[in-house]
Amino acid sequence: MCDKIGNRTSEELLNQIFEITENLYKEMSKADDQANNDHAQIFRLLTDLGRTLVNADRASFWKWDKRRHELWTTAAVGTDRIIIPEGTGLVGKALKEKRTIITHDPYHNPDFNADVDKSTGYVTKSILVMPISNCKGEFIGAYQAINKLDNDGKFDLEEDTRRLSLAAFICGITLESEAFLDDSMHDKLTCIKNRMGFYNDYNKSVAKILADTASNRAVSLFICDIDFFKKVNDTYGHNAGDAVLRHVADIFTRNLRICDSVYRWGGEEFIVVLQDTDMMGAAEIAERMRCLIMDSVCEFEELKIKVTMSFGVTRLDPGKSIEDNIKDADEKLYKAKESGRNIVITE
Ligand code: GH3
Ligand code: MG
Ligand code: MG
Repeated sequence: MCDKIGNRTSEELLNQIFEITENLYKEMSKADDQANNDHAQIFRLLTDLGRTLVNADRASFWKWDKRRHELWTTAAVGTDRIIIPEGTGLVGKALKEKRTIITHDPYHNPDFNADVDKSTGYVTKSILVMPISNCKGEFIGAYQAINKLDNDGKFDLEEDTRRLSLAAFICGITLESEAFLDDSMHDKLTCIKNRMGFYNDYNKSVAKILADTASNRAVSLFICDIDFFKKVNDTYGHNAGDAVLRHVADIFTRNLRICDSVYRWGGEEFIVVLQDTDMMGAAEIAERMRCLIMDSVCEFEELKIKVTMSFGVTRLDPGKSIEDNIKDADEKLYKAKESGRNIVITE
């Protein structure tokens, strides 16, 4: 006779755990080019491991994105991705108070957001939220389990926290490695993606679009550079120069389409990738950005600083390497500088 744990025998539970951990290991040992390097599938399996361990109907794993001041589910069993401001909801509360929170009356709990239930018809009866820390003891995410399937539908603080510790431990390490990866792809000063982020996005999506020649989808990019930026530093100081870089990055971030991406290529140079955009469309967007930047003012301390930028635009040629495509745009940028700056060059 096997011991009963809730409504499962211990052997059934172990088999469920081993099945998930086997898939986890398979996912981790996939070759680099096959692996989804944002760990999405690993988080899905870890979430399922947590759900299995505490015997809940649903589970989600929440990541605390400290750069964007948001909490979001990297995987939610049975629901789509949800994003909420940090500090809000039961997850925000558990992270703020650094403790596991259990509720068996969610609809009367002011921290519970019933929107998902309202739109899906799901009925939440019990919730457990456990904050997860990295190896330095900093909280970086949380597990949320919904609707306990045994124990009369009630989560047990001590027992369920103990059971979740295995999944929480692996999740903490995975999340930390994802945070390192994410950091390495972002520029600290402007908070936009850097050159490494560019290559990662290129390999993950743009290269695939270009390789699919039958679809005939156009991808264009422009490279742009702040004019006489050295003068900004020399006149107002390096901190003012930094503020100008942040200002320009913000203009791109706020005014590009959701499908476009901006990267700090280096120094005062940026690259913008425009999906499903031909040369003419890209030139129009570059021109719009040029005007927005020219007409804007960067306010730094008592200073009001104005800058312009020069642009080189190219439609990516699928027959060329990305380096050669960028070289093409760079040559046009050089022409823009030669011809007096503050201009978009397409040929
Ligand atoms: P051009 O119009 O030809 O592009 O002239 P420029 O002065 O913009 O170009 P140049 O290459 O002579 O100078 C670029 C300057 O950008 C030099 C460098 O110190 C500065 N710079 C690069 N990165 C940063 C940064 O992160 N912060 C600040 N403040 N300055 C930076
Ligand atoms: Mg410059
Ligand atoms: Mg430059």
